[in-house]
Amino acid sequence: MTELRCNDPIIEVHDLYVYFYTYAGVVRAIEGVSFCIERGETYCLVGETGCGKSVTSRALTKLILPPGRIEKGKVYYYPEPSRRIDILALSEEEVKKIRGNEITYIFQDPGTALDPLYTIGYQIAETMLVHGRIRRIKEGIPHAVELLRKTLIPDPERRVKAYPHELSGGMKQRAVIATALANNPKLVIADEPTTALDATVQAQIMELLRKLKKEEGLTILLITHNMGLVAEMCDRVAVMYAGTIVEEAPTEELFKNPLHPYTRLLLRAVPNPLRRMDKLESIPGTVPNLIYPPPGCRFHPRCPHAMDICREERPPEIWVNESHRVACHLYTGKASLPG
Ligand code: SF4
Repeated sequence: MTELRCNDPIIEVHDLYVYFYTYAGVVRAIEGVSFCIERGETYCLVGETGCGKSVTSRALTKLILPPGRIEKGKVYYYPEPSRRIDILALSEEEVKKIRGNEITYIFQDPGTALDPLYTIGYQIAETMLVHGRIRRIKEGIPHAVELLRKTLIPDPERRVKAYPHELSGGMKQRAVIATALANNPKLVIADEPTTALDATVQAQIMELLRKLKKEEGLTILLITHNMGLVAEMCDRVAVMYAGTIVEEAPTEELFKNPLHPYTRLLLRAVPNPLRRMDKLESIPGTVPNLIYPPPGCRFHPRCPHAMDICREERPPEIWVNESHRVACHLYTGKASLPG
């Protein structure tokens, strides 16, 4: 089992497996994912579409719907350093007290996250009502106005009475963020929070998240495929490929010294803010079908350094220093490192 290195974790994930039982076969979406998030940091899961980032983040609060199933693993949540909750052992009723309350989500598309039939104020207040923080919707409206103010929505007293269709995309996402903050969460999971927005609004929303993190003392798990966002926002980053974590490091170190062949190719495929780049490259091949994942290292069909052992054995995760780990046979001492 992978050793985790956090001093004051808010979440620990140990050897998580999530499968989806479809008519076409069993999709092995997550296999052996382990990581921890330090209280107060912004931790990032990055990777191509379909690599398992969102499934991992949903599994943190058992938000895996049929035909998906959490096969095995442990998720420990530490509301305080001395209190540990085994999330996967909780009943749905028990986990609901944490989800949307202490651990909240900001999803990709604000258009579907908000109910078109209710005002923004009602929806924020309802989140508080569900978790017993208020007794009537009316009681939550002043707090909703405050939250809209914090998320920099102009004229919050008026917007609190608005319906989602009366707001722009950026404004809707601010309202979703306000809803996620309604119960003073300890961990906010932002799943591609800006993908559905245009570039200027994206920058504003990320700036807002940074501001709120500082003001509210939040811990953020950011899910993204955008390496620019990782560089701007994250303290540490885990790179996912085909349902596994292939590398984890502090953000600056990952950009300066990527070790896994997939991370290296990924960084050459996108503009890198820390390096001069003459041209962008594409990663050869396609992501594997997880009903029939490649044996051994899941990246071997696309890897320029693949060796015989890569096709047979899953690479173990190796800590190359205090804070940087990689899952690749090149670092097990059995082969020379790539240049
Ligand atoms: Fe490439 Fe082998 Fe490392 Fe996988 S384990 S990334 S195939 S060198």
